[in-house]
Order: sequence, then C-alpha cells, then structure tokens
Amino acid sequence: MDFSTFSPKFQSQLAKIGIGRAFDFVLHLPLRYEDETHLYPITDAPIGGQVLVEGEVQSCEVQYKPRKQLVARVADSGGTLVVRLINFYPSAAKQLTVGKRVRLFGEIRRGFWGDEMVHPKIRVASDDGALNEALTPVYPTTAGLPQFQLIKHIALALRTCDLRDTLPATIFDPLGLPDFAGSVRLLHNPPPDVPQYSLSERTHPAWRRLKFDELLAQQLSLRTARAARREQTAPVIRPKGELAAKLLQQLPFGLTRAQQKVLAEINADLGEPHPMQRLLQGDVGAGKTVVAALAACHAIEAGWQVALMAPTEILAEQHFRKLADWLAPLGLQVAWLTGSLKSKEKKAALAQAQEGHAQLIVGTHALFQQDVEFERLGLVIVDEQHRFGVAQRLALRGKGASPHQLMMSATPIPRTLAMSFYADLDVSVIDELPPGRTPIVTKLISDARRDEVIARIAVKVSEGRQVYWVCPLIEESEALQLQTAVDTHAQLTEELEGIRVGLIHGRLKTAEKAEVMAAFLRNEIQVLVATTVIEVGVDVPNASLMVIEHAERMGLSQLHQLRGRVGRGRHESFCVLLYAGPLGETARARLKVIHDTTDGFEIARQDLLIRGPGELVGMRQSGAAMLRFADLEADADLLEAAREVAQDLLAHAPQIATRHLDRWLPGREALLRV
Ligand code: ADP
Ligand code: MG
Repeated sequence: MDFSTFSPKFQSQLAKIGIGRAFDFVLHLPLRYEDETHLYPITDAPIGGQVLVEGEVQSCEVQYKPRKQLVARVADSGGTLVVRLINFYPSAAKQLTVGKRVRLFGEIRRGFWGDEMVHPKIRVASDDGALNEALTPVYPTTAGLPQFQLIKHIALALRTCDLRDTLPATIFDPLGLPDFAGSVRLLHNPPPDVPQYSLSERTHPAWRRLKFDELLAQQLSLRTARAARREQTAPVIRPKGELAAKLLQQLPFGLTRAQQKVLAEINADLGEPHPMQRLLQGDVGAGKTVVAALAACHAIEAGWQVALMAPTEILAEQHFRKLADWLAPLGLQVAWLTGSLKSKEKKAALAQAQEGHAQLIVGTHALFQQDVEFERLGLVIVDEQHRFGVAQRLALRGKGASPHQLMMSATPIPRTLAMSFYADLDVSVIDELPPGRTPIVTKLISDARRDEVIARIAVKVSEGRQVYWVCPLIEESEALQLQTAVDTHAQLTEELEGIRVGLIHGRLKTAEKAEVMAAFLRNEIQVLVATTVIEVGVDVPNASLMVIEHAERMGLSQLHQLRGRVGRGRHESFCVLLYAGPLGETARARLKVIHDTTDGFEIARQDLLIRGPGELVGMRQSGAAMLRFADLEADADLLEAAREVAQDLLAHAPQIATRHLDRWLPGREALLRV
C-alpha cells in the first residue's frame, strides 16, 4: 500500500486517527460491532442494544413541533414502531415512502407513546431477506472519513501486510493467547459464533493477544531506555555529607524514618557513575522538600550545581524562599529564575548559573529554555513532575552532560501504573507523614448553607487560624472564573468584618502573587480567596480550614491536592466541600471518595478508574496516549506477564524484542529519549 498515492486530505485524515503506514490499518481495531445477523420482531426486540427490525412504512410526515423532524410509522406482523429523524436529508424521506419495506438498525426505546427508534440506519429491505453473516465492525474515525473507506483499506492491509508472528508460540501458548494473524483477522471480521460481549468487553483471547503485544512493546521500550541510561555517564557524587548534616542540625525537626530511607536511596544513586532517574513519591505534606534540599546539599558539597524546577511560579517562589532560608546560612548561593523576571534580573540569574556562582537555581520551566546554561549541572530536581509534559522533560535531559534526576510527585502512582508508564524509573516512597499531624476532617456541605460556613470562618480566625477559600473551576471561561473569585472576595470582605481577606489568581503579576502569598504566610491576611492556582505545594502551616466551592466540578486528585494545603501544622484542620445540588451519580460517588478517605493512594486509584492514566502521567499535553488497547486495571495480569516476557527477551532473544518493537513502535526513537 503506497501512502504517497493517497490524496493529501486522505493522508491528513488518516494521520488524525494515528494511521501513517500500512500496518497501522491492521492495528486499527473496531470500536464496536453492529449485529445485523438477526432480524427481530418489533415487539420482541431486546432493549438497550442495537437491533435489526424489518417492516412496512405506514405513514411518514414532517412535524414542526417541538422542532422540525421526520416521523414515520413502520409495522411488522406483530407491532408498530415510530421512527424519528431530527436532522434528515430529503433522501431519508424518500426511503420512508409509505408502502415500502425497510430494514431499521438502531436502539428501540419503549416510550409512553409506544416503541421508538431515533436515527436508525435505514435500508430498503431486499427481496431475498438475506442477513449479514458476520458482525459489522465500526471503526474509530474522524470527520469526513467514512467507514467504508476504512473497511476497504483495512481489508487490503490484512491481505498485503506481513502478519507473521513476532513472538514464538512458546511465549504466547502458555499464556492462553492465540497467534497474531488469527487474532487481528478475527477482530476485524468476527465469525458469527463469537459471543459479542467478549468483543465489546474486550475479553476475547484475540483482544487479549493484542493487549499483550501492546503492553510487551511498552515494557520493551521502557526497559531499553533504562538500559541506555545506564550506558551514560554521570558525575559520581560521594561527599562526606557535612553540608547535609549542617542543614539537619539547623532544622527544627528530625527526619522521619521514611525520609531517612528515601534519602539513603537517593544518595546511593548519586554515588553511581550513571544518571539517577528516581521518582520520589510521597503524599501531600509528607515532607519531600526537605529531602530534596538534603540531596541538593550532597551534590553541592561535591562541587556540582543543582537546578530545582516547579510547575508554577507561586510554588517555585515558595521553594526559592524556603531553600534560601535553609541554605544561605550555610554560605550557599541560591538563584531564582522564571519567565517573568525583568531582563536585567534575568541576565544576572543566567550569569550566576553559567559562571557557577549559584549552587542552587530554583525556577519554573524557564530553567530549561535555550539560553540557560549551567557551569556544572550535577542534579536536576523536578517538583510535581506529573504536571510537566513530556516535551519539557525532554528539554531537561539536554542540559549538562547527563545530570542526575530526582522527580517528585504527590500523586501516588498505583502499582499498575508504576509498572507500566514508569517502568524506566526507580521509585522511592515516603510512606509516613511527619508526626503530630492531626487528620483533616472533611465535610460535604450544600451550597445553601454557605452562610454557616462563613460564620465558621469568623470563629476559626478568632482562634488565630487562617483559611483558604477556593473558587470554582470554570473551564469554559477563565474570565468568568476570575469574576467569581473577585465577587467572592468582595462578599467575604463585607461579611467578615475586621478580618483581612486576600485574593490570588492566575492573572496577577508574579510579584503581586508573591506579595499576597507572603502576606498570608505572615498572617497579615487571614482569609485567602484563591482560584485553583494554589493547588500545588503551597505550605502555610497555620492555615487550618479550607473551603472549596463547587467541589463537584473538580477532579479527585485536584481535590486531594487542595485539601493537602491544610493539616500541615499542629491544629485540627477542616476541609469543607461546598457543592451545588442536585448531584449526579458520578459526582456523588467522587465526593464520597474524597469524604471517606485521605489516603492519596486510594484516591489516585479511583481517579485512574474514572479518568484513565493520561492525566496522571502528564501525557495529556503530549497528545500521545501510549496504550490504545490495554487497560491497566482490567489487564493487570497481562501487564505482569508482559513484564516478565520483556525481561526474558531482552536477556536471551534481543532480536525478537527488536522485531516486536519494529511492529508496534516504529517511531520509538522519540519515545526512548523521553
Ligand atoms: P510535600 O511532601 O507535600 O512537598 P512539604 O515538603 O511541603 O510537603 O512539607 C510539609 C511540611 O512538613 C513543611 O512545613 C515541612 O517543613 C514539614 N516537615 C517536613 N518534614 C518534617 C518532619 N520530619 N517533621 C516535622 N515536620 C516536617
Ligand atoms: Mg511539595
């Protein structure tokens, strides 16, 4: 199949659905199937699925109320059915001429006015009454690309592509999986005796084979990337540890056992001659920052520079202040670099990085733009790494020879996700919170009781505490979201006499944001009205009440992160989730998860179930969902198997691994660099 003979329009349509070579047609599997192999009597047709019925058109007319639509009645020997077309072409009216026999394919709804089909597929019934012998595949497609085009090219690809197995039967037989060619053929053209649910639920062995192959390719590629990394050289960092010891002495607290453990793992990596790539995981408030600071001390003592990158300016600024507080007394230079610096300040910061005067440079992703150079970059720390896109992580690896990398995330990664998307990383987990924290009490309160909540704020403030009020996320309109925040700020200012209410949102200039945050930290502001900009990492231990408006609009992980802003000090903390009822079923279920547990791991697992892995791994920005067929939760057994097979192949049969990768990830060069 020669793609260059395709029209540019066809090529770009295909590109949109991920088809760029003949074999991609083979791997373009049906979304679902339509079953036109049975003809049902109208009155007996099962409800809730698509069915085929046949009958004679009794009447057909255009109605204008409540809106223009074509309404026909079709009858077979036992019953009648109303056919309704809201948008229709004149040709449809012709097909439904009174007296004609038609076949209708669609879902029957049993309504008050009788049985109905809305927008069925309509065909004139043939005389011989022949039915399809196999299920009809329905493929994922894009605007302007009709099914028949896909069907035609897929059939051609199935005939012309090399479908021979990449794997020996000794691998897939014991797993109960069929061969590759048979599997794709079956999925594209399932024979009539295949139970349809095994296809729609993707539990059929043919589906499982495809999922296995996909997972295996992912494992192979990540493992190869990991092996390649071990070939690179990185600075061997093995100082005495004096600087870290000094920092520890100066802290008002000792490390938890979990912090000591992960720090030991990090330091061991730093002492190796190849670049560390470690993910430091710890729930919100677990104390990742101090671990990062101690690792930084290690690298600095050995004579290397350290860069720390945070996803937002607010967070970067806060890290900068905290780290400067900790490290300046030890005689270290900490520099600050973000996109919003004035050019003179920026030049100074750049010079400090380039000439090596600054041992630690803190900033946003501005740190990894082209004009930034480091004299001796030994360690890169990325906070809230799941917020960064793949591209940004790529840019980051280009700086310095091959610096060690420490990535931090408060979004706990479920095991299956860690085994797949993060298979090329080492993971350290801080699995205990610092002592003396009182658990956060979460309350679900209806919007109608907003006044009570405001009264509660006054009480908290009179006790000396501080409060966050988070305004709703309004995805459609940033302007509207801003307006809500401004209005809420005005309302709270008016109702909370004698209490200083501050406002922070994404439109403020960096300096203004920093000023507000600093005032809040000094308790000059008692109530901080905020848009979701405070979501990540902000640390004000005296704040003990968090109110989140329209909590039902937010994602689970986001709510968990927001809630983690309180419960950081000695005081009992509360999180009030205001919701506007009535709640839908999923909204209720999600709020229940947040209400019932503060375990970030469980929340992330639920989030994974609800939203899929894209968001968690920061893949959304890259537009490249790496798994098309497999589902990490449902196919955990295949993932385990793929992991073992990958290990085996790379050790004993690398040529098979290469063959498999060539089929599944032909453009894998880009992926390996990530
Ligand atoms: P996160 O892991 O969410 O980034 P932070 O590093 O911001 O958490 O830490 C949260 C708070 O806990 C900070 O105020 C920090 O100084 C404090 N903290 C960190 N480690 C300890 C500890 N071992 N004992 C007491 N407090 C600690
Ligand atoms: Mg943090």
